This record gives sequence, C-alpha cells and structure tokens, in this order.
Amino acid sequence: MIQVDPFWLLVLPLLFAFGWLTARIEIRQGRSRRAVNLSGLVKAIQALSVGDRQRAVDPLLEAARESPDLLGIQRALANLFRQQGEPDRAIEVRLSLLARDRLATSLSQELLLELAQDYLAAGIMDRAEVCLTELRSTPLSQQASRYEVAMFQQQRRWADVLASLNRLGQEEGDKTLRFHCYAEMGDLESAAALWSDHPRLTHPRGAFAGRHLCIHCGFRTEQHYWQCPGCMAWDSLTPLEGNARPLAEAAMP
Ligand SMILES: [Zn+2]
Repeated sequence: MIQVDPFWLLVLPLLFAFGWLTARIEIRQGRSRRAVNLSGLVKAIQALSVGDRQRAVDPLLEAARESPDLLGIQRALANLFRQQGEPDRAIEVRLSLLARDRLATSLSQELLLELAQDYLAAGIMDRAEVCLTELRSTPLSQQASRYEVAMFQQQRRWADVLASLNRLGQEEGDKTLRFHCYAEMGDLESAAALWSDHPRLTHPRGAFAGRHLCIHCGFRTEQHYWQCPGCMAWDSLTPLEGNARPLAEAAMP
C-alpha cells in the first residue's frame, strides 16, 4: 500500500480551498466589497508546513467557522483532529459533513472512507466496519478492503481477513498472511497447500523458545510470536543471540 505523507492529507484540501477562495474573491472584485479573511488559512498552512499541528488547529477552526461551505477546510480540520489523537472531534466534523444535502456521490464515498479511519483511530470497530462494508461496491472498494484486512487481523477474525483478501484479488505478498490465517483457524491442510515447508508446520513448538526481536520494528519479546505484537508483521521475529535457529529467515518467502 502506498504511504502518503500525512502532511499532504492536511495541506492539499487546504490549498484547494485556498485556490477556490482566491478565485471567488477575484470574481467578486468590483461588484462587492465583501472581504474574505484568508489569514486563518495562511496561518494554518504555515504551521503545518513546519510540522506544528497544534498551532494549526485554532486558525483552521476559525477559517472553518467563517467559511462553512468550504468542505476542504472542514475535511482538513477533521484529519488534523484525528492525527492529533482526537478522533472523537474528527468523527463529529465528518458526520456533520455527511449530513449535508446534495453531496456528490463520489464525495460522500470519500467522506465515508475518512469516517471509517476516524472510527478505527477511536477504536470503534463496529462502526468502522459498517462504513467499510458500505464501500464494497464503490470505486473505493479496494481501499476499504485494505482497511478491513488490517482491522480483521486486529480482531483475529481470520476467515474475514481471507474474505477481504479475496475481494482485493491475488497480490504478491499475500501468501504469508493467507498461510497464517489458515494456521490460526486450525486449517493446516489449506495452510500446507500454500506453504508446506513453513517452519510453523515443520518445526516443533519448542524450537521457538527464548527472546526474539522484530526485524521490522525492533520490538523485543521474551517469547516467539508468528505475528509481531508491535507492528503486526508476520514472520518478522528473529531469535536474539543464544538461540538455536534463525527461524524467521527460514520462513521468508
Ligand atoms: Zn514488529
């Protein structure tokens, strides 16, 4: 999955709103003296450009109040709340946007996906799932399924992980996850059909004793896990010095 710098998730809608506002002002020049205060937007963009999210909140709130029709500002504000660890406020803003009349279908779907991320950040999984399910037959179904894959793993709903993977289609890199889903479900036959010589099937449980380190996130643990409790990666734990076998390496595809 392509990782987008969160900075752009905040700033792009702002720049879009800024450009739209500027154009409106130009149109109005000569027939109206009504001034639109852009200083809040400018302050917010400046704060975000140096990574200061906290200082962006107040001017953005002010701009949102002054220009309630500019959805870009409201969406950026909601994203900012979520990234600041205030998903409840993000949910509030996003629900108020979704309740508006005459939203284009594509915009409603984008807002629904954003709302799902807000709910995930707030740990309200059942509502996130409702949003993601609603997006299944839309152009955003692939993105929704990727969130489902992560969410169902957290909930240890392995059959649902597999169903979401199936909706995404066959992709490189899914083999490890599919294998472990079957193994977690106790369906060793399906697991073996995918990967017969994986150490999870070929080594006795005792071979994994001792301290381990995740090669992805550096998480250290006193025992072995097939899925890293720190970053949720599979087959990423490798034995620390003193252990017998580098099993994680053996498990690499
Ligand atoms: Zn990890």
